[in-house]
Amino acid sequence: MSDRTAVVGAGIAGLSTALLLSRAGLRTEVHERDPAAPDHPAEAAAHTRAGAPQSRHPHIFLGLFRRQLREHLPDVHDDLLRHGAEEVPLQSPGAGPDQVMIAARRGLVEWALSRALDRDGVPRRHGVTVRDLEVADGAVCGLRTDDAVHPARLVVDACGSRSQLARRYTTTVADVECGKVYNSRFYQLAEGVPRPPTRYGSVTVVDGLGFGAALFSHDNGSFSVDVGRLPEDGDLGDLRDTRAFERVLALFPDFRPWLRPGAGTPVSEVVPMAGLRNVLRALSPDAPRGYVPLGDALCVTDPTFGRGASLALAQAVILSQALAGAEDLPRAALRATRDTEAWLRPWFDDVVAQDTARTTLWRAAVADEPLEAVLAQLPPNPFMLLDAAPHDPELADAAGRYVSMLDTTLDTPDLRQRVARLVPVLMTAAPAAAPPPSRSEVLKALAGD
Ligand SMILES: Cc1cc2nc3c(=O)[nH]c(=O)nc-3n(C[C@H](O)[C@H](O)[C@H](O)COP(=O)(O)OP(=O)(O)OC[C@H]3O[C@@H](n4cnc5c(N)ncnc54)[C@H](O)[C@@H]3O)c2cc1C
Repeated sequence: MSDRTAVVGAGIAGLSTALLLSRAGLRTEVHERDPAAPDHPAEAAAHTRAGAPQSRHPHIFLGLFRRQLREHLPDVHDDLLRHGAEEVPLQSPGAGPDQVMIAARRGLVEWALSRALDRDGVPRRHGVTVRDLEVADGAVCGLRTDDAVHPARLVVDACGSRSQLARRYTTTVADVECGKVYNSRFYQLAEGVPRPPTRYGSVTVVDGLGFGAALFSHDNGSFSVDVGRLPEDGDLGDLRDTRAFERVLALFPDFRPWLRPGAGTPVSEVVPMAGLRNVLRALSPDAPRGYVPLGDALCVTDPTFGRGASLALAQAVILSQALAGAEDLPRAALRATRDTEAWLRPWFDDVVAQDTARTTLWRAAVADEPLEAVLAQLPPNPFMLLDAAPHDPELADAAGRYVSMLDTTLDTPDLRQRVARLVPVLMTAAPAAAPPPSRSEVLKALAGD
C-alpha cells in the first residue's frame, strides 16, 4: 500500500493543503489540469486560467485568511508582502489586531503558495486531468489520469465547485442560488500615483438599490471593480459592455480618485460571471475510505462575502492537524471531514440568509415596491455598522469581527437591539459616505444618455 497523499487541484485549497500536509510529515504530491503559471511574480499575479475562471474576478483576503497564514504558513505570508501584497486594516476605532485584510491578486497568492511547495520539494504535476479514484476493498489506493494510475492512500479533492469527484462521492446538503451576476474589470494605477483610500480594509463597497458595486485594491498598484445585478434584471444586462460599464462607474464618487485620467488604466475586458450558487456538500456514506473533499469541492459561498479562500485555508488547517502523526490516515481524514462539515455549516447558513435578504430587497427595489417592511426584516448590514463606529464603537467592532470572519454571525438579539437604538441616530447624522447613484441614473448611463 502506497504511503502517498495525492492532492488534486492547485487552487488555493489544493496548494495550501499540500503545503500543510507535507509539513505535517506526509509524502504529498499535487495534480493539476491547468498548465503551470509563470514563475515571475508580476506575470503570475496577472495570470488567469481556464480551470479557475474566477481568476478573472476580484479576490479579497479577509482577516481569518491572514491570521491563518501568519500562524501556519508564515513564510508564504512574508513572501506575499515582499512581493507587493499589502495589509490593510479595517479603519474602525477599537478594531482588534486580526481585522486586517491582505490586498493581493489571487494569482499572487497562488504564486506564493506554489513557490513554498517548490522550496519544500513537493512535486506539482501540471497538465494532468484526474478522471477518477482507484479503489480496492472500499478504500482509495490511487487515482487515475488519462494515461496512468498513481498510487495513493489518501486523495484530497480540491477540484473546486465543478469537481467531478465530488459529484460522485459526496451528497448535496444544500444548493441555493446566490442571486447575483458579476461584471468585473481590472485596472493598474500609473507609476507614482499613491493608492487612493478604500473604505473597509482593502475594499470600498457601495450598496445601491437593485445593484451593488465594489472596488478592490490589490498588490503593486493593481485594482479592480465589480458591479453586481440580479440575474433576471435584464435592464442592467449592458453592464457587460465596456463603455456602458465605464459610464456607470463614473457615477460612483468613491471610485473617482482611482479612475480619474492619469490614475487607473484598464488592463482587462469587462468579464461577466453568472449562474453562481451557494452549495454545501457532505461525504457520501459509501464514499471510499481515504477520499477527502475540501475547499469549493465541499462548500461554495457567494463571492460577495469574499470567504472562499479563508474557508479553504481553514479546512486545510483542520485536515493537516488531524493527520499529523495519525496511525490510521483514512480514519483520521474521515473524522476531519466530519469536523469540517460541522464547522462550515454556520458560515454557509449565514451567507444564504444574507443573500436571501439582499435579493428580497433588490427585487422590491427593481419592482418599485415600498421598502420599509423589507428593510425592517433584514439582518444588520455590517458596513453600515462599521460606518457607525463614532456612535457605537463596540457595535462597529462586532461588525469588523464578522466581516473579518472572526465571528460567524451579526444576527444576535443583543446586536439587533443595539442596531435598533442606533438607527434613529444614523438617520439624523451626516452620511458617512457619498450616496450611491440611483437606479434611474444607472439606467440612463447604460443607455448612454
Ligand atoms: C467570481 C468569484 C469571486 C470570488 N472572490 C473571492 C474573494 O474575493 N475572496 C475569497 O476568499 N474567495 C473568493 N472566491 C472563491 C475562491 O475563488 C475559492 O473559494 C477559493 O479559491 C478556493 O477554491 P478551490 O481551491 O477550492 O477551487 P478552485 O480555485 O476552483 O481550484 C480548483 C482547481 O482544481 C483544478 N481541477 C479541477 N478538476 C480537476 C481534475 N479533474 N484534475 C486536475 N485538476 C483539476 C482546476 O483547474 C483548479 O485549478 C470567488 C469566487 C468566484 C467565483
